[in-house]
Amino acid sequence: MDRLTRRQVLKVLGGATVAAATGGFTGQLLGWATAQEPSRPLLPRPGRRVVIVGAGISGAMCARTLRKLAPDVEVVVLERNPTYVSGPSHVDYVVGLEDARKVTVTFDALVRDGVRVIRSPATGLRLQDNRVLTPQGFVEYSVLVLATGLVPAEHEVRNLLENRRLSPHAWTWAGTVELRRAVEAFSGGTFVLTVPPPPYKCPPGPYEVACLVQEYWRAKGVRAEVVVLDSNDRPQPPLLADLWRRVLQERGITYKPSFKVVELDPTSRVLISDRGERQRFDLASVIPPQRAPLFIEEAGLGGPFVPIDPATWRSRAQENLYALGDVAASPYTKSAFTAFLQGRNAAYFIARALGRDRGEPDPVFNQCWPFVSSKEALFVEVAWDKEGRPIPARNRTGAPSAQHVKDRKQWEYGLLRAVYG
Ligand SMILES: Cc1cc2nc3c(=O)[nH]c(=O)nc-3n(C[C@H](O)[C@H](O)[C@H](O)COP(=O)(O)OP(=O)(O)OC[C@H]3O[C@@H](n4cnc5c(N)ncnc54)[C@H](O)[C@@H]3O)c2cc1C
Repeated sequence: MDRLTRRQVLKVLGGATVAAATGGFTGQLLGWATAQEPSRPLLPRPGRRVVIVGAGISGAMCARTLRKLAPDVEVVVLERNPTYVSGPSHVDYVVGLEDARKVTVTFDALVRDGVRVIRSPATGLRLQDNRVLTPQGFVEYSVLVLATGLVPAEHEVRNLLENRRLSPHAWTWAGTVELRRAVEAFSGGTFVLTVPPPPYKCPPGPYEVACLVQEYWRAKGVRAEVVVLDSNDRPQPPLLADLWRRVLQERGITYKPSFKVVELDPTSRVLISDRGERQRFDLASVIPPQRAPLFIEEAGLGGPFVPIDPATWRSRAQENLYALGDVAASPYTKSAFTAFLQGRNAAYFIARALGRDRGEPDPVFNQCWPFVSSKEALFVEVAWDKEGRPIPARNRTGAPSAQHVKDRKQWEYGLLRAVYG
């Protein structure tokens, strides 16, 4: 199943009654809300107004940078949530290594910088009128920036949406909290975690979760077999494939490459691949394929992600539209590290398009410190030139070390301070 309409989602969930009961949650999951076409403007007609949808890492960084580069431009951010939880900490939170309060931030700093933050979901786009739709009304823009992140497409794995409780995953914050509960309550048996096809956010994340939960259960004396079913032919990212294979083998984690899960059988608790292979589980964590929120695809901006020029973040389809971070179809890793740099860099190109040339920012690179246990992490670095072409000479990897754990946490807390502090 490639793309799901609203009507199909409701059918999967059992019709209108269920839709009424779960509308908010389901809408959030798939990136839409149950809204009528709004007819009133939320703000007066704009002079030069940049509207950014999403105050995650890329959107918040873009908003604050734009305020510095072009103080005369009005910057409006639409954000559906009151707070933001840092993505990298989803992994260590699952096994109780991180305190949610330390990695949850508000948007107060954006407001202090003069950004108008509207607490509302965007539910649709009227590109011909330069309007973003919300349940309360529409917001007009001169420039639109999509920084929504992506949504896990649960519906692409048969029976997953209806049986989410059998298979929580850490690729949303609500799922992370559920997975932690399930991991704590697990009394033993087979835990199966699946890796979706790329691109998905945080390529090494699934293997980190596998390593951490196994270490957690061992320390508690819980007898668990940990199995990783990977849609890919090798662990991700490819630069870390050999290191991951060695780590998984040393820890006794079963690794099955090229095993793309397409169905969950809730009665026999079996995951089924596209080639008919079967894997039994007591607890599963199916990480679904990932794509842009439905309202973006419905606006005709493409799917699964929004095509952009990686040199400027400008949409390939619309002059006054930009897409940053996870939602963009770009060569950059879907990570918080690049989202920060993409938000900063895109602001320079948006400012230039609005007549405020502030020079050229440095190109994007990515660094990541994936956990192999609570005490050790790997390291990987990749870089791109200013056109978004990879620079293989900049590739670096590092074997498991305690220093990498320190570096990771220092980077993440520093990132949150830089974007939201
Ligand atoms: C388990 C896990 C581990 C990770 N580990 C790492 C790591 O070690 N290193 C690393 O660099 N990255 C890591 N990441 C990835 C990182 O968190 C993301 O790549 C990054 O947050 C993407 O930033 P973004 O700005 O594109 O989107 P996000 O940070 O996802 O922000 C999107 C924002 O848009 C808002 N939004 C969405 N839809 C709407 C709407 N319709 N209307 C209004 N607001 C909306 C959301 O509420 C959110 O605030 C990890 C992610 C996960 C899930």
